[in-house]
Amino acid sequence: MRKISADYIFPISSPPIKNGVVTVDDDGVIVTSPVPFAENEKDVEIFSGIICPGFVNTHCHLELSHLKNKVSENKGMAGFITELIGKRNNFSEEEIQKNIESAEQEMIRNGIVAVGDISNNNSTFKQKSKGNIVYHTFIEIFSLDASKAKEAFKNGKILSQELKTTAQQHTNSHSPSQKEKSQYSISPHAPYTLSLDLLNLINEEAKIKNSILTIHNQESEGENLLFEKNEGILFDTFIKMGIKPELMHKTGKNALKSTLPFLKDAKKILFVHNTFTSKEDIKFIQSFIANHQSSIYFCTCPNANIYIENKLPNYPIFIEQNCNITIGTDSLASNWSLSILDEIKTISKHFPEIKLNTLLTWATKNGAEFLDFNHLGTIEKGKKPGLNLLTNVDKFKISEITGVLKLL
Ligand SMILES: [Zn+2]
Repeated sequence: MRKISADYIFPISSPPIKNGVVTVDDDGVIVTSPVPFAENEKDVEIFSGIICPGFVNTHCHLELSHLKNKVSENKGMAGFITELIGKRNNFSEEEIQKNIESAEQEMIRNGIVAVGDISNNNSTFKQKSKGNIVYHTFIEIFSLDASKAKEAFKNGKILSQELKTTAQQHTNSHSPSQKEKSQYSISPHAPYTLSLDLLNLINEEAKIKNSILTIHNQESEGENLLFEKNEGILFDTFIKMGIKPELMHKTGKNALKSTLPFLKDAKKILFVHNTFTSKEDIKFIQSFIANHQSSIYFCTCPNANIYIENKLPNYPIFIEQNCNITIGTDSLASNWSLSILDEIKTISKHFPEIKLNTLLTWATKNGAEFLDFNHLGTIEKGKKPGLNLLTNVDKFKISEITGVLKLL
């Protein structure tokens, strides 16, 4: 049993508590929700800073960790995709595994306790099965060719089976349950890389399994132009890659409006990036979901947006419309670190008006809620959220010098 206190505790489920004390058992389960420090309180560990729940990273590609510093910055989405495809396979299996392991260690050091991770292949499955972090794996599939939709979907099913088998082989008493270790769903890559037939197969499966989906959304301007007019840099890049123009969608509507109706039966959908999402798009989503069962979350990966497009989403319009926002790091192919705190620093630098409690809610509770990790995300009795200490936070402002120390 430990009693832990700091200048402030941000439980996230309730307002911050000055000089709060939280009691946890030996397994890290919260025994009593945080309360103000009492005069006669004994055996309390006192820290200087702010305590918040462990961070939830809702968008990562752990399998791309070997590409750190290998893809040029500020080349735009089309340039990024071209370089990534050219480079991702030029590495030995040993190198790939070594980088996956150290990237996971980096996340743990940075106070991340759960990850929504994209997998195109099996290279992360062994690491995930160790249970060091809780994962939901999004088995990502794509194919613009409708005649190959069934094959692409079948490959996704085979990969998810492999994820389950690997988790079973490595189950031990110290790690999370096998079910948690193999939590997954088959998800689409992006609006511009799937045929409608393939989107339908994914939607059908999500409906049957009542599962959550994720999709990259409006990460570049070229994505909208491709759908609206079959024009723009992304369209041109695909033509150069040899993709037949008739396979690409031309709907006269932007990427988001053209895709969401085909994913209507998912339990929840996480739109990732949203750099070019407008207020009108958000209103479209809200009126759409009012008639359907799904709920929508928006994941922001600000550092990756700066790395690739040098542009950030328009956060105030999402806040104004009460959107559920989560935070992701994306991969080391398009980021300098795997740290939710580093993402918060970037948001705070460009949008200093966004309050600390709001940013921490995005970084913890919202992500846990989206991924259905009900034991994480808030500091409440009975939960096991992990505890992070944020140091050097002056007047509730995250700055360059703010640090994170994983307490639990
Ligand atoms: Zn991504």
